[in-house]
This record gives sequence, structure tokens and C-alpha cells, in this order.
Amino acid sequence: MLELKKINKSYKTGDFVQHALKDVSIEFRKNEFVAILGPSGSGKTTLLNILGGLDRYDNGDLIINNTSTKKFKAIDWDRYRNNCVGFIFQSYNLIPHISVIDNTMMGMTLSGVKEKTRRKKAEEALKKVGLLEHAHKKPNQLSGGQMQRVAIARALVNDPDIILADEPTGALDTKTSVQIMDLIKEISKDKLVIMVTHNPDLAKEYASRVIEFKDGKNVSDSNPVNKEEADHSKFKIRKTAMSFMTALKLSFNNIKTKKGRTFLTAFASSIGIIGIGLVLSLSNGFKIEVDKFEKNSLSQAPIIISTQAMNMSEENMEKMMGNSDKKLEKYTDEKKVFVQEDIKESMMHTNILTSDYIEYIKKLDKKYLSGVSYQSVTALNVINKNENGYNLVSDSSNWILLPTNPNENNEGIIDNLYDVLVGEINEDEPGLILQVDSKNQVFKSSIKALGLDGDDVSFDDIMNATLKVAINDEYYLSLGQSFIPNQDLESLYNSENSITLKVQAIVRGKKEKELMTSGSGIGYTNALTKLIVEKNKNSKIVNAQRELNYNILSSQPFDNSLDSTNNKDMILSYLGSESIPSIIYLYPKDFESKDSITTYLDDYNKDKTEENTIQYTDMASMISSLSGNIMDAITIVLIAFSSISLIVSSIMIAIITYISVLERTKEIGILRALGARGKDVKRVFNAETFIIGFASGVLGIAIAYILTIPVNIILEDLSGLANVAKLNIIHAVILVIINILLTLIGGAIPSRMASKKDPVIALRTE
Ligand code: ADP
Ligand code: MG
Repeated sequence: MLELKKINKSYKTGDFVQHALKDVSIEFRKNEFVAILGPSGSGKTTLLNILGGLDRYDNGDLIINNTSTKKFKAIDWDRYRNNCVGFIFQSYNLIPHISVIDNTMMGMTLSGVKEKTRRKKAEEALKKVGLLEHAHKKPNQLSGGQMQRVAIARALVNDPDIILADEPTGALDTKTSVQIMDLIKEISKDKLVIMVTHNPDLAKEYASRVIEFKDGKNVSDSNPVNKEEADHSKFKIRKTAMSFMTALKLSFNNIKTKKGRTFLTAFASSIGIIGIGLVLSLSNGFKIEVDKFEKNSLSQAPIIISTQAMNMSEENMEKMMGNSDKKLEKYTDEKKVFVQEDIKESMMHTNILTSDYIEYIKKLDKKYLSGVSYQSVTALNVINKNENGYNLVSDSSNWILLPTNPNENNEGIIDNLYDVLVGEINEDEPGLILQVDSKNQVFKSSIKALGLDGDDVSFDDIMNATLKVAINDEYYLSLGQSFIPNQDLESLYNSENSITLKVQAIVRGKKEKELMTSGSGIGYTNALTKLIVEKNKNSKIVNAQRELNYNILSSQPFDNSLDSTNNKDMILSYLGSESIPSIIYLYPKDFESKDSITTYLDDYNKDKTEENTIQYTDMASMISSLSGNIMDAITIVLIAFSSISLIVSSIMIAIITYISVLERTKEIGILRALGARGKDVKRVFNAETFIIGFASGVLGIAIAYILTIPVNIILEDLSGLANVAKLNIIHAVILVIINILLTLIGGAIPSRMASKKDPVIALRTE
């Protein structure tokens, strides 16, 4: 059943060739105790390794089960070792970091036998060698004799047909040697035992057959197999395959034996993860803050539709920086000047706010709006009175038309934006609102407009101020074809036709709406514009202007270019024939509404030519996209820096794994002798890097998470924002996975090296 036919094996070291086996031909019976004797270096171990499938012969043949092994693949040898052969070594070769019983059942673990079965079998084998009570000790807690018994139990446990023992008593004292030999003799009753020894007495006493070796040749045989002894029995060969769980357990046990080093490695390689984790949690937190800010205040900042809109496209920004045409070299020697489109032309867009468009805006679903405001071009002929007399308020064109509440059911836009300090706003009455800033400041011009003066003015004085708006027919005096303003302000002020204006309320922008309501100034209600238009639309000057084709106030001809304010419609509107808005403010109700509004506005432009489109300005999204871009850029730069430490840590893992491979060379040999495939060995080391990768990833995330606490305290101190740094759970999981992948990659080369290790050489290392 086992036969060597003209086996040759030589080892090359440099130029030197050592012929370890020369034309060795031996036949073994299925059941006998063969002792192989011979001086050191005569090729005994080489013979055993070839018989056990650990080493490959150069030429000749090894016949197993009447089958040539010439065509055996690596996997066939692995199965043969796992199922048919049990090895016993002089130096025991137990895996030091796992228990006696785990050592015993390793062969079965490798071939995927169920936990319960293999435990039972291992216990039986340990009982047979008298070591059951030591099952849970580690090998180094046993004596030499006991360790050799564990090795014997391990060799027996899978019930192999062949036991190969290489000087099993070589390291033991005489008394223990005898005990071990008795045990082996016992085993040999129903197995083929081939034992190498250089003790001729032991050989003769125990073995049924003695073969002597000299210089790589078998020189004598006490009981060779006769031609008649035909033997057709066969070995049973099962599959072997280590499960990843086994690999994990092996590596985990190994790692447990060097806790300190593993912890340091995991800690060092977690630094990259800590960095990235912190950066991500900060940028994540800031994004959330910015979103909140946008939703709370920016989202309600008005969308502005003005007669002049700026087109801040990327292309235009480039042009402003002087890089309009990318095809041109920055500095050119050409004797030419290149002409580019005027910036103003392409950046400024003139919106013609036609009555069509105003109608379109009015049809916008009110539910999206918290307020609308039409800045009117209609002039206010305002006159005030102070101790020096009567004055025309020339800067009333800077006054702001208050936004109106578009929807009865909504909370008023004004209540939403302002805190009323004194008085009450009545949007249905013509009146003024004085807005102060957060420190109750206003500009001198505002106070002067109200006919007041001084470094501070009491609320009472302001609420008591009375202004008048003169109607056109009294303000503009007709001189035949032209009109001039009436200089008699006193009579205008006291005319019963003039509209009386009082300050309804003093307000201050709400703190959380700071961005939209900062600053100060005078506002007036929509009802005032309506009243003025009503009183002036049929006034003499308006009627006259309707007939004329030049500016009635300046006698200048109209300029009908697109961006001119000196055209007929504008002048008529200025005089109060109707109220064409020059700027429309749309206040979205919330973040979602803003999108709906801009979509609605975009829809208007769909079938329009470029010059007829109406462009709007969405400050909020400009600010947020800018801040978003800056934040993304910072995040990427910081992550790039932290990634360097991730790379460094995977190199470190590679080195650690390499050291581990060197340290565990013997273990690799043992595993291979027990039938592990090269693949399985790779698995063991991959499992180790997996564990380290997982540990360092989780450790890094945990530390990053803990660090967010002091980071948040510092940030709150600096910025007043609480709990900014927030680690997103998805980021955490992804980081751990990336870390595992990186360490696996780092460990891949050393693991591959381990799997390629020659088991014979591996076993010879000490
Ligand atoms: P024994 O077990 O009888 O002492 P071995 O089978 O171990 O002898 O070795 C036989 C010969 O082959 C020795 O001369 C040894 O030096 C040589 N040899 C064994 N293994 C190797 C190897 N891996 N590389 C080079 N020479 C080797
Ligand atoms: Mg030897």
C-alpha cells in the first residue's frame, strides 16, 4: 500500500548539491512497525518527509494505494497528509498559543469536522495517551514527555493509516522514552508506523522490521516484503479546508499571547482613522449647522427680481479674473489685441418687468410665500416741518416699501421679521415704520427726514412727528407745456389735500433674522403707494406726460435703451400714473417653498429668448453654495492629510505581519504537516490582519468619538455653537471597512509569503 520506487532527492545550496536520497526503493506493509536506523545526515528525515507528502521527490515514484503519485497536485498531497498520515516529531512541534486539546484536534479542525465530534475524538485520543486532565493547559505548561504524548494524540486523533515518527524519543530521558515507545508499539497494532531513531537497542526491542540507512541509501532490511504479499487495501482520503472562523480563532489566540504589541499596533494604526473621523465629524457637524442656518434664516431671505440682475455664472467670474478664453496663452508674443465680450454686457442682465410678468408673479401660489414686496418707482413728495421751517424730503426714494402679507392665513411677514418696540403696524393704513438696528441706531438722514434732530431722540418725539405728502396737482405747477415743483412748502404742508403721514411703529429686526433685517431705515406701507397712485393717476402732469414723447420734468428726449430709467413708462410710473415695481422681493415661507418658487420663476423663462428672460437673484443659495464649496475643499484637504497616516499605518501592518510570519514559521510548518493548504495558511495571516484592522478601526472611531467631546467644548467657547462635531454612524462604518481593507492589502504580501513557505524548511526552523 505504500511503496517507494527508485526515489531520488537532492538539495541544492548554491553550487553545492547534496544527494539526500539515492535510488531508494522500499515497500511497506499496511500494518507493521518499521524502525529506520542510520547516522545523522543519512537521509532519514528526508525519507519520512517524502513518505508523508511534506516534501517532493525529484524522480522515481511513491505508490499510495497502488496509485502513482507522479500526477499528484498540491491539494492531493494536502488531503493525503490530513487524512492518511500522522506526524510525530522529535521536537514535538505543538502550537504554543493554543491549548492541548486545540492542538490535538487541529487536524480535524482543518478538515472541517464538527466541533462536537472533534472534541469527543480529541478527548478519546488524550485519554489514550493519559493526558485528559491536562486538556486545557498550554503546551509549555507540560513536561517533554507529556508534550510528546500530546503530539502522539494529535497524530492518532484523525485515525490515520500511517504514523511517521522522527526520533520521537530523541529529546527524552530513558524512562520517559520507554513509556513513549510502549505507546507507539501499542499504536502499531493496527497501523503502519515508520519510526526514525538512532538508538539501535530501542529499534530492535520494539520494531517488527529494521531498515538501515547510510549516505542516502537503504543498506539493510530485516524483513522486506515478499513478492507474494499482495496488498490491495486502500486509504480513505477526505477533503480538507480551513474555515475562516478557524483561521480567526487561531489568529485571535495568537494575538492574545501578545496583547501589548497588538494594542500598540492597533493604536498606532488607528491614528489615521482618528484624524479622518474627527475631520468628518466636524465637517458633518458644520454642514448640519449651515443647513439649520439656511433653513432658519437664509431660506426666508427674499428672492430679488430687480430691473438689473447680475449673472454670477462661473464663466463670468472667470472673465472678471481675466481668463475669459482658456485657449489663449496667458502671456502671448503675438502682435495682436484680442477682443472679448464686455463684462457688463454678459454679467448684467436687464429685466423688463412687464405687466405680463407682474401678473405671472401674482399667480404664484401664495402658500409658498411669507411675504411679497414691490419696490415702487413712484415718487413720494414728502414735506416735513422742524423749528427752522418746512423741508422737502429729497431722499424719500430710499425708503423701503414694506413687504405685505400675501396670504390671509399666514402669520404676517412683518411680525415674522421684526420686533415692534413701540406702536402698532397697520398695513391697511398709509404710514411709516422706523427700523432701528440692534443698538437702536438710525442714520441722521432718517431722523432728519422725520423733521427731528439731536444725538438721541425719544420714541415719543418720533411717534409725534407729522409729515405730509403733496399731491401732484398741488406740487407741480403748470407753465403751459412744462411743469415746475411748487416752492411754497408751507402751503403744501398745510394743504388739506396733502396726505398726512405718521410713524406707526418703531421696529427692530429679529435677532435670528439678522441676515435679512440688519440695518435701519424708513419703511412705508403698501397702502401709501396705493393712495398716492389713486390721487395722482389722473393729475394734470400725468395726463400731459401721457401725450408727450419727451421727459416732461427734464424736457430731455426719452432714452429707450433697455437699462434706461428715462423712458416713458418709467417716468409715468414715477409721477404716479400707475405703480410699476422696479424691484420685487419674494419672501419664501421655508426652505422647500424656496425651491418651488425658483422653479416657478425658471418656468417663466423656458420659452423666452435670452434677452426677454427675467433673471432673479437668490442670495441665500449663493451664500450657501459658496460656504458649501469652501467647506468641501477644507474637508478634502484635511482628509488627504489624515489619509497619509492611514497609508503609513497599512505599511506598518505589513511589517508587523511580516514579523508575525517570521515568528510563526514553525506554526506554518506544523499546520502544513497536519494537512493545511497554502491557502489556509494565508487565511490565518489574513485573519490576523483582519483582526488588527478591525480593532484599530473600532479603536480609532471610539477615540475620535471621545475626542469630539473636548472639541465641541472648545468650539462652543469660540463660536457659541453647541455640539458641532457629530460623527455620522455611516461614516464610522465606512471608515472601519476602509481600514480593514487597507490592513488586508498591507498584510497581503506577507500572508502570501507565508502560504508559499516550504513546509519542510518551515519545520526545520527553530
Ligand atoms: P537525517 O535525518 O538522516 O539526519 P536528513 O534527511 O535530515 O538526514 O538530511 C540528509 C542530507 O540532506 C543532509 O546532508 C542534510 O544536510 C541535507 N539536507 C536536508 N534538508 C536539506 C535542505 N532543506 N537543504 C539542503 N540540504 C538539506
Ligand atoms: Mg533527521
